[in-house]
Amino acid sequence: MLEVKDLEVFYGSIQALHGISFKVNEGEIVTLIGANGAGKSTTLRTISGLVRPRRGKILFRGTDISRVPAHTIVRMGVAHVPEGRKIFPNLTVLENLQMGAYTRSNKQEIEESLERVFKSFPRLKERVKQLAGTLSGGEQQMLAMGRSLMSKPSLLLLDEPSMGLSPILVEEIFEIIKNINREGTTVLLVEQNAFMALQIAHRAYVLETGKLVLEGAAKEVRDNPKVRSAYLGEL
Ligand code: ATP
Repeated sequence: MLEVKDLEVFYGSIQALHGISFKVNEGEIVTLIGANGAGKSTTLRTISGLVRPRRGKILFRGTDISRVPAHTIVRMGVAHVPEGRKIFPNLTVLENLQMGAYTRSNKQEIEESLERVFKSFPRLKERVKQLAGTLSGGEQQMLAMGRSLMSKPSLLLLDEPSMGLSPILVEEIFEIIKNINREGTTVLLVEQNAFMALQIAHRAYVLETGKLVLEGAAKEVRDNPKVRSAYLGEL
């Protein structure tokens, strides 16, 4: 579904990605793990068209999207939930969700997506009229994910969904990601919480200072001694 080839990204003279290549197959949850500053967010931003690569290709269903405008990439079926959520704090929960459907016009289909989002996130349904800025951190994460789902994506890019959440909420969010995937959405998940990400992912890639250093089935990556000491807090 997604194939990234030899991607190089620069911020001015600083090179953030040094020629990374990976793929995401339809139906998978693939996780990209790595320390702070490894280039995880840059990878997602480049896929969704917010950052332009200097070299390399990003094939989505066989089409190179590396020069396609971000709003067209959304229409093609790729949704990005950025780090830090970026919800509209002065709009209500419902208004935020409606904003997520801006690429669509069929009212009935939008209504169906809204119902599906409420099924995944019952807490959002209870709070439709509440201003988004007054939601808790976990609820804001749910809203950001719900808003992305309103564009009916086939590929969901998630940037650090666990950031700043309590362990119980992290469990809940990851359970929801698993369900969204089971219902047919392919997921590329960027996480610093490698432990949780490797529990739900099918496959994993490890990114270090802009280079991929390891890849494999999530179970294998989890059992790798280097990963255990560097990312899973074991000695
Ligand atoms: P984090 O989880 O902290 O966001 P990350 O793995 O997502 O880490 P990136 O945010 O992609 O890493 O950053 C990769 C590198 O690019 C870092 O060295 C970072 O300082 C640099 N970088 C990121 N954004 C910018 C920017 N807008 N301008 C300049 N340098 C940037």
